[in-house]
Amino acid sequence: MSQPTDGLPPLRAVIAAHGLAAKKSLGQNFILDLNLTRRIAREARVAGANVYEVGPGPGGLTRSLLAEGAARVIAVERDARAIPALEDIAAFFSGRLEIIEGDALAIDEADTLAARGVTLPVPVVANLPFNVGTALLIKWLAAESWPPWWSSLTLMFQKEVAQRICAKPGSAAYGRLSVLAQWRTRPRILFDVSSRAFVPPPKVTSAVLRIEPLPVPVCEATLSDLEAVTAAGFGQRRKMLRGSLKTLTPHADELLEAAGIEGTRRPEELDLAQFCALARAYAAMRKD
Ligand code: SAM
Repeated sequence: MSQPTDGLPPLRAVIAAHGLAAKKSLGQNFILDLNLTRRIAREARVAGANVYEVGPGPGGLTRSLLAEGAARVIAVERDARAIPALEDIAAFFSGRLEIIEGDALAIDEADTLAARGVTLPVPVVANLPFNVGTALLIKWLAAESWPPWWSSLTLMFQKEVAQRICAKPGSAAYGRLSVLAQWRTRPRILFDVSSRAFVPPPKVTSAVLRIEPLPVPVCEATLSDLEAVTAAGFGQRRKMLRGSLKTLTPHADELLEAAGIEGTRRPEELDLAQFCALARAYAAMRKD
């Protein structure tokens, strides 16, 4: 299929001109196919929106967000080599792109966006670097105020991670990430992306995931208690909970009894309501 033209040079030429040879240490796998980046931008429903992007790199997805009508894109990129290439895009789209050179893990997004006069919440769109993708997602899921500063997350992940985020109880992929994500968001996989779509191609298939925040969590618990019980439970996922929860408390049997869960159950059998019950029982136990 022919590439959509946006008036800027082809991405291969941008990469060559700016010496953007992909660095593994920065999780760089670039998408040069503007049909694919356009599709991601359309799925993210960015027309008229102020968008937060992580890791624009040479700017394929960034260009598509702007071409699909994003009012403004605020993009955080760690690789200083990419900044001049992104400045060319900013000049072309006359002030609709703002580039922040920095580490997305260290940024306070709500403050950074508000300081630029952006009204929250905003859609987040990113072809995430594989090495920090999960950490970024956990950071965004752990937003202090809820509903959070973001209105949706449209993210490229390794397919296997995307499946873990969406997995249901009883499945092999169900784990800590599934519980934390589904507790207060609705995640779904939009489509798979072959490794051939990237330069260089990663070893695994990827998937684009859309995550929307729920107005309130599915069940009552605090995030830190939920994190504690899921980390302990899934930390030794083959063990029965009466064994694995001992890393959390010497009184694992009492904890399970208070939550109404049999100690012989394994973590992948528990649904969200049961994890919340465990989290609440853990909170109550610490108060005693
Ligand atoms: N968006 C581009 C695309 O789709 O072709 C590049 C995607 S590449 C998978 C990930 C990008 O994230 C790279 O440009 C990399 O330099 C950047 N990156 C890696 N770690 C980062 C971090 N901690 N904060 C911000 N950007 C980061």
